Amino acid sequence: MANVAFIGLGNMGGPMAINLVKAGHQVTVFDLSEQACQQLREAGAEVASSAGEAATGVDYVLSMLPAGKHVAGVYLGEEGLLSQLDGSTTVLDCSTIDAATAREVGEAAAAAGVGFMDSPVSGGVAAAAAGTLAFMCGGSAETFEKARLILGDMGKNIFHAGPAGAGQVAKGCNNMLLAIHMIGTCEALEMGARNGLDPKVLSEIMLASSGRNWSLEVYNPYPGVMENAPASNDYKPGFMVDLMAKDLGLALEIAEQCNFENPMGQLARELYVQHQGAGNGQRDFSSILEKLKGQ
Ligand code: NAD
Repeated sequence: MANVAFIGLGNMGGPMAINLVKAGHQVTVFDLSEQACQQLREAGAEVASSAGEAATGVDYVLSMLPAGKHVAGVYLGEEGLLSQLDGSTTVLDCSTIDAATAREVGEAAAAAGVGFMDSPVSGGVAAAAAGTLAFMCGGSAETFEKARLILGDMGKNIFHAGPAGAGQVAKGCNNMLLAIHMIGTCEALEMGARNGLDPKVLSEIMLASSGRNWSLEVYNPYPGVMENAPASNDYKPGFMVDLMAKDLGLALEIAEQCNFENPMGQLARELYVQHQGAGNGQRDFSSILEKLKGQ
């Protein structure tokens, strides 16, 4: 069992850290929110008074923070964790952030002799609690072998995507495709419905045909088709429009940095940003159906 510091105990980090405690690791946590820390104290973790204190003498530092600026703030600069760590600690940042910041932290870690992987996840709060997340890792093969030892206690699929930053690129590619096929699925279902087809029957037809995709399989966006999908529960998330809009912004940055024109990804982002601006940020991302319906 390992000594682990966990920084950032929000909707995702909280249940992930709890799973590490349950797996028998010695977990020391830090979050700016006392309430978030209290939840982990009750679950059996030690609570530190700063990220630096949490990371002292540990085998692994894990973080699950909102965006690139928070990750840079925690790791870089004179006050950052990398200034106090050495080769005995492996750093795994599981946040979804821009690939450029992930590469920058990866380079700073390499200069400090610290193993680093950007390790963003696929799967939401439910998968974090169930320990079934997918991790997409960017870093060296050596660090990946160390990362697997601990990520396996929070997830079931762990991929080595490439060098530092590659995890964030994989995540950007995946979520761009998710947005595109969700919007496409909504369009197909609404077009069928306006022609008198039952969305449930049309979904069965497309599931058995070449339009089959994840949105149809497990996340049908049409209310009433799939009992457990957010669409049948007034689009309660699930995966929020705010997060999808954020991820599509990151995907656009990745495309721009490699001079790639990604018309479908750009259109998906425009539609989600408009939907977000109309007050739907906290709703599930499958509620984009309502925008297409003109509601
Ligand atoms: P959240 O806002 O619920 O949690 C973030 C936590 O980080 C908060 O508790 C906050 O207090 C803490 N924090 C911020 N700055 C800090 C600092 N300097 N030191 C210590 N703690 C700090 O966010 P979340 O939903 O848990 O998401 C975290 C990351 O996971 C994001 O990058 C998000 O894009 C990604 N993600 C979220 C989901 C999801 O469904 N929620 C799914 C996949 C990936």
